[in-house]
Parts: sequence; C-alpha cells; structure tokens
Amino acid sequence: MALLQISEPGQATAPHQHRLAAGIDLGTTNSLVATVRSSLPTVLADKNGEVILPSVVRYDENGVSSVGREARELAASDPFNTISSVKRLIGLSAEDIAASASGMMFRFEQTDSSVPRLLTSAGAKTAIEVSAEILKELNHRAQQSLGGELTGVVITVPAYFDDTQRQATKDAAQLAGLNVFRLVNEPTAAAIAYGLDQQEQDTTIAVYDLGGGTFDISILRLERGVFEVLSTAGDTALGGDDMDQAIVDWMLESSNLSVDQDAGLQRYLLDNARQAKHVLSDAPVAEISLSRGDFDWSGSLSKETFENLLEPIIAKTLASCRRALRDAKLDKKSIENVVMVGGSTRIPIVRRKISEFFAREVLTDIDPDQVVAIGAAVQADILAGNKPDSDMLLLDVVPLSLGIETMGGLTEHIIPRNTTIPVARAQEFTTYKDGQSAMALHVVQGERDLVQDCRSLGRFELRGIPPMVAGQARIVVTFQVDADGLLTVSATEQTSGVAAEVHIKPSYGLSDNEIEKMIVDSMENAETDVRTRMLQEQRVEADRTIVALDAAMQRDADEFLNNEEKDTILKARANVLSTRESDDSEAIKQSLHALEAVSEIYVSRRMNASVGATMRGKKLSNYDKQDTAS
Ligand code: ADP
Ligand code: MG
Repeated sequence: MALLQISEPGQATAPHQHRLAAGIDLGTTNSLVATVRSSLPTVLADKNGEVILPSVVRYDENGVSSVGREARELAASDPFNTISSVKRLIGLSAEDIAASASGMMFRFEQTDSSVPRLLTSAGAKTAIEVSAEILKELNHRAQQSLGGELTGVVITVPAYFDDTQRQATKDAAQLAGLNVFRLVNEPTAAAIAYGLDQQEQDTTIAVYDLGGGTFDISILRLERGVFEVLSTAGDTALGGDDMDQAIVDWMLESSNLSVDQDAGLQRYLLDNARQAKHVLSDAPVAEISLSRGDFDWSGSLSKETFENLLEPIIAKTLASCRRALRDAKLDKKSIENVVMVGGSTRIPIVRRKISEFFAREVLTDIDPDQVVAIGAAVQADILAGNKPDSDMLLLDVVPLSLGIETMGGLTEHIIPRNTTIPVARAQEFTTYKDGQSAMALHVVQGERDLVQDCRSLGRFELRGIPPMVAGQARIVVTFQVDADGLLTVSATEQTSGVAAEVHIKPSYGLSDNEIEKMIVDSMENAETDVRTRMLQEQRVEADRTIVALDAAMQRDADEFLNNEEKDTILKARANVLSTRESDDSEAIKQSLHALEAVSEIYVSRRMNASVGATMRGKKLSNYDKQDTAS
C-alpha cells in the first residue's frame, strides 16, 4: 500500500556506515541547513554560532564578495550589487517579473534573453546563479561542521512552486555542486519535524507558514503513517517584508519625509522597520531613531499601532486558509493540529489570530525559523539510507489541472488540480481524419474549458501513425508527475507502438497570484465556459459528421440514392454547415439530427447491401469506419 517509499533502492546501508546528508531550507529571506546527528536533528551554525543565513548575496568586480549577514548589512550602501529575496525571481520569465511588483526591487539587464539577469558589478546574474551562491555557502558550512562531503541533500520549496521554479531550484543546487535527493514541500517538512508522522492516530494538519516573502497554508492528512497534501493555498508576495514596508509607510507618514528614488535610504528604513518589528514581538513599544543624510526623525511605534498595520496582512492569510479548507472540503473543526512556520509567526497577534481562527492551540514548540530545515534533515537522513527500516511516505499535490488540447480548442483535463503526486494518468485519444499520420499534442495547465484561457506548457508531435480510418487509431497519452512535481507527457499509438515523449519545462513559471487568478477565473467563467464548450463540441461533431458523410457519398451515393434523396441529404448537409457558423449549439444539434434523419435511408441501404458493416448508434462516422475496415 506504500505509494512511494522514500528510501531509494540499493541505498540502504548498515547503521554504522552513516552517510552525511543535510536538509536545506532555501528561504526567500533566510536559509538554514540542518542534519541528523546521533538520531537528533540539529541546525548547523557558522563559525560565529549563527544558524540563520540571510538569503542575501553581494557582488563586487571580482565576483561574490559576501553571502549572508554581512551582505545584508551592506545592502543599504550598495543596493544593486546586493541581491536579496532572489527566491521571488527563480524560475520566472521577464514577463512574469514585469507583471509582479517585486521586480521593482531589482535592476535587470535589458536584453531579449528569456532568462532575466540581474545587473551587478560582477556581471549579469540569473536568479539560479544567485541562489547557487546561497547553497554553496550552506554546503560549505555543512562540510565544515560535519567534516566531510555530503552524500546528498533535501531542499525544501514552497508547496506552490510550479515545474519551472522546482527545476530552477534543482539547477541552482547542481550549480552549487550538491546532489539533490529530492525537493520537498516546506509544509510537509514542518509536519515531519513535529513528528506528526510518528503518531498512532490518523490526523488532519494545517501548516501556516508566514515567512519574509511568502505565505503558504497547506492542509495535510496523515493516514496510517502516510502523508497526503489535501490542498494548498497562499501568496508568493506576502510576508514579513510587507510588514516592514507597512512600518516604513507609517514612518514616512509620521515624519512627513520622503525617500524619493533613494534605494539606499529605502533599505535603511526597511532595516530599521524590521528591527522595530522584532522588538514588538516581545515588548509593548519600539523606539525608532533614524538618521541618514537629510532623513532625521525619531518616534515610537506602539504594539497597538503595529497590530493595526498588520490587520490587512493577517486578513489576507485567513482568506487563503478558508480557500485551502474549501479545496480540501474540510471544516475548520476537522483540523487537529496547526503548525506554525516562518519567522513572522513569532508575532503574538499572528499566533493569536490563527489560534482563534482554528479554535485551537497552535504548535510553536520548535523554533518556527528552523522547523522546515529540521524536517528536511530528517528526510535527507532517510534518503541517505541511514534509516533503512523507515517507511515514511510523502505525498504532495498538483497546484493546477493539467490537460491536453482536443478538437475545437477545448481542454481535456487529465490530472485535476490537487491530485496527489507522484501520479500517472493515461487517456485514450483517436485520429480525426482518415489516413491521419501525425497528431499534434498541446499540453496545457489551468482550470478553464477553453485552451485559450489556460497556460500553454508545451507542444509535441506524434508522427508515423500508420494509415487508418478516422477514429480507429488508439493513442494513449500519459501524464506523469514525478515526486518533485515535474511533468512528463508521452503518447503511444497502440497498434503500431509509435511513441513520442516530452518533458515539460515551460519557458517560465506562474506566480501564486496567477494560479489564484486562474482558479478564480475558472469559477467566475464557469457558466460561459460550459456554453462555449457545448458550442465547440457541437461544431466538432458537425465537422466529423460531414467528413464522414462526404467520404461515404463520394464512394457510393449513386449506387444507393436517387437524385431526390441525394438533394434532400445535401440540403440537410448545407443546413448543418450554416448553423455551424452560428453561436447556437442547440441549432447545430437540431440540424445534425435533421441530417441524421434524412440520411437514415442511405445508411440502412448501405447496411442492407451487406458490406459487412454494423451500424453502431447513429453516427455516420462509425458506419464509415466499419465499412472500410471490412
Ligand atoms: P523565509 O521563509 O521567507 O525565508 P523566515 O521564515 O526566515 O522567512 O522569516 C523571515 C521573516 O520573519 C522576516 O520578515 C523577519 O523579519 C521575520 N521575523 C523573524 N523573527 C521575528 C520576530 N521575532 N518578530 C517578528 N518577525 C520576525
Ligand atoms: Mg520559510
């Protein structure tokens, strides 16, 4: 019953052969590395005893000059050579970035290249390269404290990361010289850190992760030791950064000063805002004193004022919580454990509001900054083969439905949204025309019925289909999403075995907001979609009928029909063609019925002539197919 075993075959080793492995939380704001030592998971510190590595990389003319805290501290003085929050860019195209507000924090090279590059004095850098620097630093730290090379690592990613973002994260790891056992969703790692997988009873868990740059809510179900992600929701542009910005806005309003275009000053204010925010997690008031150039101001921020600033941010997270519950078809009451993850869940009002929302105590015992890295370390330890008996299972979900374009520009969903991965689903398709030797397959992602409203993931062709009549070829299209969330689509013609395959690496990724928008759109447009789908289906049906009728008539109309009968059929045929151009699916349907009615005599005569055909249903196309086959 185990769907997916984490221990890789052949990797189990005797207990004394401990292999070095680590879990990495590659965060937007902060990153950490952890490992399991003498059965205890622990985060690894640098030589100064710091466990948190700010995800900030600073460049100078010679290349990377610093990574982490030092880089972050210098950010204000040299904003464009100091890259932070790069996770917001990973796997995104220039278009994606242009469409999102976070792109404004960065300075990009102006080229036509599809992969956006950040301008630094060390040259133009992709988000993958910048992320690789953070991973290198963590790898270095792990090797220093463990005294050897790592066999492999588990890297966590937000549950919402799509194919491209996951692939880009893997690419960054490769660039950093790391062997990735597996990418794992952050919430799943957090639940494992709490050992929720070790408990006897089945349980439903909500993981609330409010970090610096992203918010994720995931509903997990643990049944007989098997984890399943029931649903996820969130926002890639919501977190502590927004709180810092809210405080800066408050500072500007209170001081009557402005930052103009001064990026350095902006960073300085954000740094001070963050410090004040941290103070307010433990104290009722934060004293702020600012002095930089002309900007001279001091004031105090009360917890109450701060909590008012937080209100809209918390409200947004609760809206996502409701959506995740709705997707999982669950009631708040069915959630038995609520795990708090991310530095921003240290804020008392956040804990309070979430606890109120779910009407239960929230889990905060494990440091919310470290919990994801710890869970990743536990899994890395198992994957390295250090725990051969472990049968821990991990299941995650597909965030948006995956499907294929069919005749008439319609989407045929093959893997519905929120299906657990890894998953493989197959569906059979057939040819549309007699003798059709190739088939174009268009893979799409999204909830809408029409292809034009979904996102195109890729196209490929199946060639060399042996000549057959329309509808006779059996083409099995298989969609496979692996444990890392990467999609492979293959198509095989069953009678000949001709096959084609494509690994889907879309040219750019989707942000949470876009995913959310596509889902909302599909709900809002459900009615129009149904109508359009019906219309398109009728049109396809009309085309199919006409193609089949024409083929038959060309062959033997003179043999079976007199002129009058022929005319009647041709008139009905013309009527189908004209209604086909209308937007009225009912009219098309009626005209098709009429055509079928007047063709009945023709069909039965052909049949009586015992050409070995059996008429199935009323479809002329079927008749035609049987005819030729005999
Ligand atoms: P990410 O997962 O995005 O990398 P983290 O989980 O490390 O982020 O959370 C970082 C965020 O947590 C930052 O915005 C930071 O300011 C905030 N944070 C950390 N400690 C505290 C605290 N004591 N009070 C309030 N916010 C905090
Ligand atoms: Mg995080």
